[in-house]
Amino acid sequence: MYPQIITYLLTFIKYQDQMIRTLLTLLIGKNMFDKPKEQPVNQPYRKLQVDELPIIEPLQKLDYKILMKEYFENHGKLLKPVRRHANSKTSVPSNISCPKCGAPADYLYANNGGKGQYQCKVCACVFNQKNQYLKEAIMKCPHCLKTLEKVKERKDFDIYKCKNNVCSFYQRNLNGLSSKERKRFKENPHDFKMRYLFRQFHIEYKPLSKESPKKPKVDLSRLYVSPHTLGSF
Ligand SMILES: [Zn+2]
Ligand SMILES: [Zn+2]
Repeated sequence: MYPQIITYLLTFIKYQDQMIRTLLTLLIGKNMFDKPKEQPVNQPYRKLQVDELPIIEPLQKLDYKILMKEYFENHGKLLKPVRRHANSKTSVPSNISCPKCGAPADYLYANNGGKGQYQCKVCACVFNQKNQYLKEAIMKCPHCLKTLEKVKERKDFDIYKCKNNVCSFYQRNLNGLSSKERKRFKENPHDFKMRYLFRQFHIEYKPLSKESPKKPKVDLSRLYVSPHTLGSF
């Protein structure tokens, strides 16, 4: 009895399916009887490559004391610290100083409503805590010594690229392509990683140090399981 009912129901479902497809074909004007083609994706993906570190060169620094002396000589008065309103919501942390001239926090404006951008009153340098060290140095391609250009800004990191066409790194990669790859490179240049890249992560290392006053939420010294278990999180 049961097998008969099941066979009947299956036939009925098939009939309904045909009906639905016919109605959909009429409604959408597209043949709904064709089965979708299922082909495995066989596309060569670009693998993540990490290039060596760039060459980091310190920038020429200014001295706020000399700049302030020059201001005094030119204007006949001292350059005053930034006047802050007593009820101002934006404040400048006292441990911040200008990355370019070293002026202390008293000479820094909180530039964009407390979002972390500052401007130095002494040398007019604009910076934020994330790029503070960038203002202190420039990064160069280790292969051709050209200054790297920032090409992308992501949430956690920026990407810098050597755009020099005669860079030995780029030339070597170009020459290493087979004629087939060369053709593909012309069509889809983004499938290939040809130029020197550097990813600069916005990680603040200070809170991670043992001396940091910020204590982590989890006290690892009181961990009762093996460190391997912790590593598997
Ligand atoms: Zn400055
Ligand atoms: Zn280069």
